[in-house]
Amino acid sequence: MTGERSVNVFFDEIMLGHNPEVDLPFMPSRVEKRVRTVLEQLESKWSYPEHPGRLIAVRDYLEQNPVPGVTFTSGPCATHEQLGRVHTSSYLDHIFSMAGKRAWLDRDTTAVSPASVTAATAAAGNAIAAVESVVNGDAQSAFALVRPPGHHAEPVRARGFCLLNNVAVAAAHAQAKLGCERILIVDWDAHHGNGTQDIFWADPDVLFFDTHCAAPFYPGSGHLDEVGAGLGEGFTINVPLPETAGDLAFEKAFREILVPAAEYFQPDLVLVSAGFDPHRNDMALNLTYDGFKVITGIVQQIADQHCDGKLVLVLEGGYNLTSLARGVHAVLEVLAGGEIPQLTEAGIREVSEAIAFHQAAFIEE
Ligand SMILES: [Zn+2]
Repeated sequence: MTGERSVNVFFDEIMLGHNPEVDLPFMPSRVEKRVRTVLEQLESKWSYPEHPGRLIAVRDYLEQNPVPGVTFTSGPCATHEQLGRVHTSSYLDHIFSMAGKRAWLDRDTTAVSPASVTAATAAAGNAIAAVESVVNGDAQSAFALVRPPGHHAEPVRARGFCLLNNVAVAAAHAQAKLGCERILIVDWDAHHGNGTQDIFWADPDVLFFDTHCAAPFYPGSGHLDEVGAGLGEGFTINVPLPETAGDLAFEKAFREILVPAAEYFQPDLVLVSAGFDPHRNDMALNLTYDGFKVITGIVQQIADQHCDGKLVLVLEGGYNLTSLARGVHAVLEVLAGGEIPQLTEAGIREVSEAIAFHQAAFIEE
């Protein structure tokens, strides 16, 4: 029943301060020139898709439709030391030097506004706090409702609206300070988590499992044969999917690849890069709210079986505000102990009802 399990949701309004409004003047640079040229060629006006309204939509929806068992809280900003476990010091110096400025960081249209650095450190800090709350037993699971997102951010490069790799920073903190040895990171965002893959590429203590819309969809990585290297070979698992893949494909990938991999790996903490852009009304792929519930149920079962239920979700993408807010709500219901639906292909249940309804008309008495 929903409410049987405790869930901490980490949120802080500081993260609403990241707001690169493209109409305002940005710092002149080579990247700036390139991005402006691309934007000028677009037929319609472009606005920064990863905007504060995303978190506001989720917060408002959860306030209007509270999930029993869910408590809102917040954590401190991440420190230089915590971020330095996954990003180089020169990259961090560069990012911190951007405080108070408007600038393009990457020609893939990743940018900062004056309050972005604080927002980004708050996002990473709240992901860390979410992990601490679960490892310390304050809640059975946690959801870090954060932005800017993180999974495209590489050790030395901001990409895909991501400045700091929140889930990787949280995983590294769990290993360095909380006694976790083996961490499973599941990334179900529609885009491949290239940054997370890069950070743990040669690390046998982090198992990275990623379902995503296949290349050439952004960022173009995440091929089947990208499996890690060195000691980490075999500890990166990519499942590239066609754009039309939906609930049943996701369920099959999670049950038949992730579950046995987790069984082999024996994680002592499960983290999820939870993007809501694979929802059928968003960018790519075809998940429904029931699909999100089922894959949440599977990772919850993995956490229950291997690590006393220690499960932390960190928000990544999701740009359709309705499916983002409702998707987070659906996932929280499962985390809080709610029922997990049976999946069928869309419409099968209705057709069965229609068969029963019409059948009698064609039978001679
Ligand atoms: Zn995404």
